[in-house]
Amino acid sequence: MLLLRARRCRWAAILLAAVGCRADVPPVPEPVPEPTSPLRDAEVVGPIPAAARVLDWDISARLDEGAHRIDGHARMRWRNTSRVAVDRMPFHLYMNAFRAEDTAWMAESRGEHRGHAARDRGGWGYIDVAKVSRRQDLGDGREGDVVALGFHEGADPSVMEVVLDRPIAPGESVELDLDFVTKLPEVFARTGHAGRFHMVAQWYPKPGVLHEDGTWRNHVFTFHSEFYADFGDYDVELDVPADMVVGATGIQTGSVVDGDRERLTWRAELVHDFAWVADPDFVEYTGSHDGIKIRQLLPPEYAPDVDAHLQAQIATLDSMQPRFGSYPWSTITIVHPPSSAAGAGGMEYPTLFTTSPVYDRGALLGLLGVQERVSGVFTTVHEFGHQYFQGILASDEFTQPWLDEGMNTMSNVLVLEDRYGPDAWALRIGPLGFTGADFVRLSQHDAATLQVIDADADAFSPVVGGYGSTVYRKTTGVMMTLRNLVGAAAFDAALRSYALEHRFGHPTGADLERALRDGLHDRVAVGHRDPDDPETGTVFLDVGEFLTQGLHSTAVIDFRVHAIVNRRAQGHAGWHRSEAGVLIGGDPPLGDGAEGAPGTEGVVVVHRAGDFVVPVEIEVVLADDAVVHRVWSGRSPTHTLRFNQPVARVRLDPAGKLWLEHHRLDNHRVAASLVGEDGLSEPVGDAYEGAAIALLAGVGP
Ligand SMILES: [Zn+2]
Repeated sequence: MLLLRARRCRWAAILLAAVGCRADVPPVPEPVPEPTSPLRDAEVVGPIPAAARVLDWDISARLDEGAHRIDGHARMRWRNTSRVAVDRMPFHLYMNAFRAEDTAWMAESRGEHRGHAARDRGGWGYIDVAKVSRRQDLGDGREGDVVALGFHEGADPSVMEVVLDRPIAPGESVELDLDFVTKLPEVFARTGHAGRFHMVAQWYPKPGVLHEDGTWRNHVFTFHSEFYADFGDYDVELDVPADMVVGATGIQTGSVVDGDRERLTWRAELVHDFAWVADPDFVEYTGSHDGIKIRQLLPPEYAPDVDAHLQAQIATLDSMQPRFGSYPWSTITIVHPPSSAAGAGGMEYPTLFTTSPVYDRGALLGLLGVQERVSGVFTTVHEFGHQYFQGILASDEFTQPWLDEGMNTMSNVLVLEDRYGPDAWALRIGPLGFTGADFVRLSQHDAATLQVIDADADAFSPVVGGYGSTVYRKTTGVMMTLRNLVGAAAFDAALRSYALEHRFGHPTGADLERALRDGLHDRVAVGHRDPDDPETGTVFLDVGEFLTQGLHSTAVIDFRVHAIVNRRAQGHAGWHRSEAGVLIGGDPPLGDGAEGAPGTEGVVVVHRAGDFVVPVEIEVVLADDAVVHRVWSGRSPTHTLRFNQPVARVRLDPAGKLWLEHHRLDNHRVAASLVGEDGLSEPVGDAYEGAAIALLAGVGP
């Protein structure tokens, strides 16, 4: 999901509306034929774990457009992959979040989502399960009687429990029939209708996930919680008004027009959800890349955006496939909700996602160089990225949302760097400038330092406001800081191993941490204390220690230059009178013209002001303009460096590797004796921090 803060959205919208000017509508190209299989060739998909497929679905759904209601029937075969027998099955009824003011979701959100508000009761939605039954399996493919099963909603109506008439043993399967009615809300939070546009998502009863030890994961649907489900195959028949243009998870396998209705059949394989969209006004554009059919469904007013999104989609595939393995499915559908349904934009579903408009055709944002950062093109990069972290890896988004949103946001940075180079996000206005790293840093000024990344979705209170800055951007900061310290090649290889090893495997945070520790061999040499003299020792980064601090604590990276002292190399301590006749303590000061004189020394004291222990590079410019680089382990509170001549200036983390460090104004210092001559240029150089806060604070994924 793309997380934008409501008030800032409005701010951005005003700016973007002021600069927007739209290009012409491109002609609709020859349609690309629908693939014959929802999966790409087996050698492209790669190995599929035997345990991956837990569910098999047959769903039929009829849309009553006027009532915004779906009459559905699902036959669901579920396999018990745990070590224990179960006699109950919990289900999600996500649509019930929008049923009343006192549901967990509505109470937490106060009825608002990304600036879009729920309207009156007439606009609310629900899912009503009418009947659950089990068909007895007599063996040899014969079916016996239908057994009606009891079921009841939980204290919050977004969950229900089905009571089975007999235990299902480990390895055994059960087949349930579910009759349900889903009423779509007026769209304000991802799913629902606006006029004839229908975004049908999280719309059918979905069972929880049974872990190997026999515990179920079936969380109440709350404001920050997203989704977690088992993989399976889907055959779905959609009965819709004949003039509807429909998009859905998977491939379309057939269609039959019957009067003013059309029945469309779809098939999806190895996915954990099925979403669909219908709107008679959609214009359909198709393209392809690397054998993948790319379908875009756009309202006519957004048709000029089609090529920008296609190119972004292609660039994202070209970046992510080498990094994280092949995209396994044969289609991807990009849905552009109409402006009346903006609350549906920026959301991911398997092989289908919703995006947002491109506001910036060649105008101010282009000049500023941030068009890829704040326009709908970035939404396409972000939402497609979820196909990997949410779609293929499919971690538990409730328990560890950072594994999806955070790792995906980090991968978006890499996509933009692959596409536009390391300064992809750079914005420069005169002497001021800031980059993608600064966007992440800026967000740490928000609530990110108050909350631990590795926490479940409910730990992030909307009042504290740290979900976006912590889960999305602080995770990005942790990973990019690690990548900068250990080197891009080593980090990228370790992350690729994680992505390949856990395809279709629901990895946990522990799996990712293990993959990074193993891939980076636990300790990484990040430099010598004095590169001219390797004997003085190597500084190591302990990867496990870094991840523990970054992911499981609120420790803050913050270094500062405490002091530059230029003085006589050998002197006698004591009291001296200055030229003005004042008694002063300590070493006698250097007089005018003493810089570089024999017998003088420069002493630098740097200070780890934050509680996050991490190595940091120190750049020292000496009086003779020689530049010296040192690495400090950061283990002690302070560190002292001595030079046999005076020091002109000091800068900590000169390359900006520590994305997590947000207080950087004190990272450099100019010797007091030089302030008069050059005391302004570097503070001005760092003033981007303040300027950037004022300019773009909080506009982020
Ligand atoms: Zn997202």
